[in-house]
Amino acid sequence: MMAEKENPSFVVRPHEDVVRGHGAFARPGGIKAGQVVLSEPPLLLYPQASVAHLFCGHCLRYLEQSSPTSCACPSCRQPRQPRQPRQTRFCGEACRAAAASDPASHSPMACALMQVARVEDATDETVSAMLFLSRLCALLLSARAGDAGALRRYEAFLSLSDGNRDIILEDREYAGWLEEVCHRFAPCLAEINQINQINQIDEIDEIDEIDENEHVGEEFVKMACLKDLVNSYGIRVPAALGADCGVLRGTALYEEASRFNHECLPNVARCDDFDQSTSMKFIALHDLPEGEEITQSYFPLDWGVSDRQTRCRTVYGFTCTCPRCVMDERTVMDSVMDDDGMMDLDGYIAVFLLKYLCVDAACEGTMVPLRPLMVSDMVSDGDGDDGRNDGRNLIDGTHACNVCGRVRTEAEFLRGLESGGDGDGGD
Ligand SMILES: [Zn+2]
Ligand SMILES: [Zn+2]
Ligand SMILES: [Zn+2]
Ligand SMILES: [Zn+2]
Repeated sequence: MMAEKENPSFVVRPHEDVVRGHGAFARPGGIKAGQVVLSEPPLLLYPQASVAHLFCGHCLRYLEQSSPTSCACPSCRQPRQPRQPRQTRFCGEACRAAAASDPASHSPMACALMQVARVEDATDETVSAMLFLSRLCALLLSARAGDAGALRRYEAFLSLSDGNRDIILEDREYAGWLEEVCHRFAPCLAEINQINQINQIDEIDEIDEIDENEHVGEEFVKMACLKDLVNSYGIRVPAALGADCGVLRGTALYEEASRFNHECLPNVARCDDFDQSTSMKFIALHDLPEGEEITQSYFPLDWGVSDRQTRCRTVYGFTCTCPRCVMDERTVMDSVMDDDGMMDLDGYIAVFLLKYLCVDAACEGTMVPLRPLMVSDMVSDGDGDDGRNDGRNLIDGTHACNVCGRVRTEAEFLRGLESGGDGDGGD
């Protein structure tokens, strides 16, 4: 039922492998290394509760302590206990105004819902989930009240995958946590259902999915949290803040990016900079021919096979059967191999990791090719004259880490390949 996307780089269509649902496939002409395959604004984003006071409540930009433009939500209640969420702040009047008119942001409705949520002594993760739910419920209420934009976004949210619910809920700890979230969010649900009654929502009965769930209850909370678990992207704190305030500043959901399936040897990597923009870019790691499926890795590339399999199963509800996992499982089961094809793949994986893993082993980022055109554009922007060729030569084969920004030239990569020892397998 989902309409085909008009993205110039790829087309979304059902996967031949039914288990994978939909997939995104390169259009005629293919995709070039370094090409931006997708740049997409979020469907919804929300802050990480424990550090929410350090970042804008609307765009998640870092708030400098001395920033003269930052301002606070006039309706947020001051916390009575140290562990309660602090007053929401914004990077400026523009974001405060945008949040007030955006039902999926820190709107007056989302703010009001957080004031009745049972946040006392809840963990960071649980309060963050309630920040998510309060924004989603405010979006739902706006959709029901006839806001066409809110309706489109809410329907896009509903179209996101639920993963494999039965498998995910086998995790007792997660299932128990979901029950806790339902309990703590119950006062908000009561509030929402009361508003629903007052609004007499039946004027928009052409929307089946919304009508079916007229009463917003625990099922809604579980559905929403599962979609968030399976589809969301964690937004890191700026590298400069380091471990001082944890890893994440918030979480964001993207509609089109959610169509990129997982592989442990992905061909695109996400790139974002939330201090500049909430849009997320996906950049091709290498050339992709027409029809090739676009894939991303849902976790760092250097994880071992058992960690990868566990994550795929418990968080996303599937068993990864990508070539790298098949290869790694074989290596684990039988270290003596005389299958030439598998040995070639082994060499390919070694070179792949050498090429795309951040040079800083602790970083976990992915080295993304810088596109010659991007830099030559930058050069000609700056100087105006004949910098174009210099830029191209300087940057060809150069990669930059999508997490820490570290840059590595082609020459440095080749030197690493030589000293890496096992790097002669590629042909
Ligand atoms: Zn902002
Ligand atoms: Zn507020
Ligand atoms: Zn895999
Ligand atoms: Zn890095």
